[in-house]
Amino acid sequence: MYEFTKIERLDPTVRPTNERIENFKEIYEIYTPEEASAQASRCIQCGNPYCSSLGCPLSNNIPQWLKFIADKDLNLAFNISNETSPFPEILGRICPQDRLCEGACTLNEGYGAITIGAIEVSITENGFKKGLRPQFAEKMTGKKVAIIGSGPAGLSAATFLLRAGIKPVVYERADEAGGLLIYGIPEFKLEKEAVHRRIQFLLEAGMELHLNTEVGKDISFEEIYAKHDAVFIGIGATEGKVLDYQGYNTDNIYMAVPFLTNIQKKLLEMPYDKKYNVKDKRVMVIGGGDTAMDCVRTSIREGASSVRCVYRRDEANMPGSRKEVKNAKEEGVEFIFMTSPNRFLADKNGKVYGMEFKKMELRMPTEGNGRADIIEIPNSEHVIEADVIILALGFNNAKLAFLRENGIETNKFGAIIVDEKYRTTKPRVYAGGDGVRGADLVVNAALDGRQAALTIIEDLLLNK
Ligand SMILES: Cc1cc2nc3c(=O)[nH]c(=O)nc-3n(C[C@H](O)[C@H](O)[C@H](O)COP(=O)(O)OP(=O)(O)OC[C@H]3O[C@@H](n4cnc5c(N)ncnc54)[C@H](O)[C@@H]3O)c2cc1C
Ligand code: SF4
Repeated sequence: MYEFTKIERLDPTVRPTNERIENFKEIYEIYTPEEASAQASRCIQCGNPYCSSLGCPLSNNIPQWLKFIADKDLNLAFNISNETSPFPEILGRICPQDRLCEGACTLNEGYGAITIGAIEVSITENGFKKGLRPQFAEKMTGKKVAIIGSGPAGLSAATFLLRAGIKPVVYERADEAGGLLIYGIPEFKLEKEAVHRRIQFLLEAGMELHLNTEVGKDISFEEIYAKHDAVFIGIGATEGKVLDYQGYNTDNIYMAVPFLTNIQKKLLEMPYDKKYNVKDKRVMVIGGGDTAMDCVRTSIREGASSVRCVYRRDEANMPGSRKEVKNAKEEGVEFIFMTSPNRFLADKNGKVYGMEFKKMELRMPTEGNGRADIIEIPNSEHVIEADVIILALGFNNAKLAFLRENGIETNKFGAIIVDEKYRTTKPRVYAGGDGVRGADLVVNAALDGRQAALTIIEDLLLNK
């Protein structure tokens, strides 16, 4: 350890841009155990490790697994990493580490943070190669918990319930399990094999999975509630925010998630909606978060003739991961900042050919050091033309009737209300993930699933 003065931070090898835009393969290589060991040995084993206590929502035991992998003890590093996290090899790939664990690393200022995410991926991937597996209870308790939604919140809850010998029975409206891990986040950030593998472990450990089963439509909530000892709701927040396109022909206006989902289905060789086609088209993506970055980079790989990203604030105020913006720029995306959409422009048949925008400027808050406001610059209207416009403006919670009808209270945004132990307003019903928080991060959904499972275990097995 303490090798940071001798060994530099070295990110995993990234595939050359001209090669990576040709396909959807992940762009980063995985460290060999030797590379992971060398990078981990830079760690200074802080007494109060902020990476874990402040940076990582799961409070992963980062210094401990860094020490074990530095000492080349892959078994122990694998077990400790998989203890607090339901899927470390997935989170290591997609967490915005610059804002989380690596942003809080003591070495970040001056020396370069430990490459925590990449080491986390390497430990579990190399552990799998060696035959290591996540551990579950050997004996089941006979208790059953229904899980509505198989996104990261639901899969995390299932993982921790199975460790306590409680059978998760998952109801998923889509034709594949995984939520946005499968049908949102693209392959070049997270290969789908990694998600399928985790789901397979859970199935082998006793998870029951009902696909194409929407609760409130294909099966009633009442039936599920009656059949199980408890229910965990992890339904996400995927209602894309729209701009007013009343009266326009919307064939060439795509919402971000349906666009990404259909391209993913095409890649998985499943039936998909052929409306989502950007080949040889000028694409304009509106928005500046991770979803917008996924849309621009997907469009590049799908053969768009040009790809622009229009965002109403400046680059410093973009909400997503810096790494993804850098990757998008390298891959040929043009960014237009401080520009806000005003209205769609259409020809006489209603076909949209572009948008009118207004230029914006930042105004620093007069008091405190909050986020700068943005204000319109008068008479700054201008037009940007495009063949396809993709809206990546954020997400709302769907207001589902079965919640209201069953006394599961939501707030004014439609998010499910829970207490600090993830209990909803209905007894034996728990919730977490984007359905509670609004659109957020996979690691926070994983945290909610874990903590809700711990409360369920407490309520079903300990407080009987
Ligand atoms: C394009 C995109 C890219 C993203 N990139 C990142 C990233 O790089 N890193 C990151 O940390 N986060 C990222 N996020 C955010 C992250 O994906 C979400 O915060 C996370 O998936 C939320 O998990 P969840 O389990 O709460 O919900 P979801 O993943 O949305 O899963 C909810 C599941 O519930 C199912 N469901 C809903 N209603 C019902 C019902 N009535 N019956 C049965 N099933 C139902 C849905 O079909 C879905 O499978 C991204 C989001 C998007 C949209
Ligand atoms: S889960 Fe995310 S925040 Fe936590 S250590 Fe892993 S990459 Fe960092």
